[in-house]
Amino acid sequence: MAVFDIYKTDHKDGTYGLHPCSNYYTEDYVKKYYSLYLTDELYRNDRGGIDVYYRLHAREPHDNNMVLAYDVYCPKCRNIMCQITTIEDEHTLGYYECKHCNKK
Ligand SMILES: [Zn+2]
Repeated sequence: MAVFDIYKTDHKDGTYGLHPCSNYYTEDYVKKYYSLYLTDELYRNDRGGIDVYYRLHAREPHDNNMVLAYDVYCPKCRNIMCQITTIEDEHTLGYYECKHCNKK
């Protein structure tokens, strides 16, 4: 599993860009020093390939409306990803998928 620390930008229109920076750190480190981070999860798809999903994690409590203000960028290709699930709890936020990387 890779852990990506996130650099947050303010779009000045009530939305924010979440830019994954590096994956050099352990989850324990990122949890301590970053307010938001992504982890990846790999799943075998029915076309014989692997799909990658990203889970967004937050230090501060979040609700679904807060999460809707985030544009989360793909760590690989830098396209904006689609949010595919609502939040799981206030620190474990939704899953994101890059349609470009998962070739959909
Ligand atoms: Zn991508």
